Amino acid sequence: MREDASAGGEVQNYVDGEWRPASGDDGRDVVDPATRDTVASVTYSTAADIDDAVSAGKAAFETWRSTPVEERIQPLFELKRLLEANQDDIAEALVREHGKTFDEAKGELRRGIENVEVACGIPSMMQAGHLPNAAPGIDETAVRKPLGVFAAVTPFNFPGMIPLWFLPYAVATGNAFVLKPSEKTPVTARLIFELVDEAGFPDGVVQLVNGGADTVNALVEHDGVEGISFVGSTPVAKHVYKTAAAHGKRVQAQGGAKNHIVVAASANLDFAAEQTIGSAFANTGQRCLANPVAVVEDAIYDEFAECVVDIAAGMTLDNGLSEDVDMGPLISGAARDRVKEYVETGVEEGATLLYDGRDADVPAEGSFLGPTVFGDVSPDDTIAREEIFGPVLALVRADDFDHAVEVVNRSEFGNASSLFTDRGADAKRFRHEVEAGNLAVNAGTAAPMAFFHFGGWKDSFFGDLHAQGDDAIRFYTDEAVYIERWPDA
Ligand code: NAD
Repeated sequence: MREDASAGGEVQNYVDGEWRPASGDDGRDVVDPATRDTVASVTYSTAADIDDAVSAGKAAFETWRSTPVEERIQPLFELKRLLEANQDDIAEALVREHGKTFDEAKGELRRGIENVEVACGIPSMMQAGHLPNAAPGIDETAVRKPLGVFAAVTPFNFPGMIPLWFLPYAVATGNAFVLKPSEKTPVTARLIFELVDEAGFPDGVVQLVNGGADTVNALVEHDGVEGISFVGSTPVAKHVYKTAAAHGKRVQAQGGAKNHIVVAASANLDFAAEQTIGSAFANTGQRCLANPVAVVEDAIYDEFAECVVDIAAGMTLDNGLSEDVDMGPLISGAARDRVKEYVETGVEEGATLLYDGRDADVPAEGSFLGPTVFGDVSPDDTIAREEIFGPVLALVRADDFDHAVEVVNRSEFGNASSLFTDRGADAKRFRHEVEAGNLAVNAGTAAPMAFFHFGGWKDSFFGDLHAQGDDAIRFYTDEAVYIERWPDA
């Protein structure tokens, strides 16, 4: 990694194996949400910059596609080594541009590195099958082939992990790849690309372009891009899905979420409360897998609410680089103000404010907001339905388990859901009946390992093949069937 890699300045594009400035007229500063210090700046890429990156990718693809797979994965082994060796430095820069705690930053990098590890197994995963004598005298073979240049557009909340849901699989399968990270958190991607540069990929195989909505649209509309992976809010996911499809591309678009925890009467309440707090408030509530609504059976509701409030009241807020900090700031002052408006709406709509994070003891300069807990929330209230993306937990009373499942399935989103119970029969019903792509029993966050696919249902996902695991291989390749006959004559 360059010595000044995290030392601010302008975050450049990485195209055709070299760092170059984007040529747009607009851009933004990257601001540390804990201190308000400017840590870097980013200039937005134009359609011409995108064209340069895609053209370099197409040129590199011609050789890369037929490079032996064993050679293609060598730079990934090196990238894993480099990411691990530099994990602390990247995590520190990630905290400075995002605000999360240092442990959370290291944790997300670990989840990203897992994807690099899984993609190193592409020689086995990419095999598609062979059957001798499938028909009289005919042997039949299925093959998976790379397609060209793929792009990924990623959000601000996991700048270290989410790009790695895509990059390793795209290139291991023989494609070229372009990343457009969030303009709010571009420094982490720059650091990862410093390592990509060292890892030994041929020029043009892996590229970084910075920018905002116009840059994304130039990528999504570019004829040379075969497919797009998008992760972000639901309105933009829908837009990217429609536009990419209209331009004849493959697309997987992960959107927003509003996930639920069900706490059944048989659950271990202390454990369920601790996990609920972790799920709702990790990353300051800015997670697509957060469960910010807990649907609690009436019989244990009061006791559970008391446990949750006790834990929330003991949380420490500070700069994510401080020791013993539970929660960092929100990404920006604007995000904090938006979350505060939701708190006001909750009060206006009649929910009971059990713990008010607006009164929390926080450092004055950053965009901090303490953990907030509402009780007796109706499933129809705004704070129970809309994605707040901040540290607000809503407790909903359920008459019984049936009612709880009905409340969960009323959501227009379907990213994740967790159940706390001591009863196998509840768990079985939950697994069969709850409409969400990631489910957990007695775990607060339903996060799949990299060798399983990851994606939501309903308005949390648009497309069919999800990220990670086997779905990633299918997304980045097309299958062909090859039959062969050698008549005796
Ligand atoms: P966002 O939708 O604002 O931005 C995501 C990306 O889209 C960024 O790279 C941004 O530059 C680009 N973008 C923004 N507006 C655009 C537009 N109008 N046209 C084209 N491109 C545009 O999302 P965010 O605020 O960065 O991230 C938070 C959201 O992401 C939340 O809704 C969260 O639930 C979701 N998310 C989902 C998952 C998942 O796996 N489902 C994972 C992480 C985050």
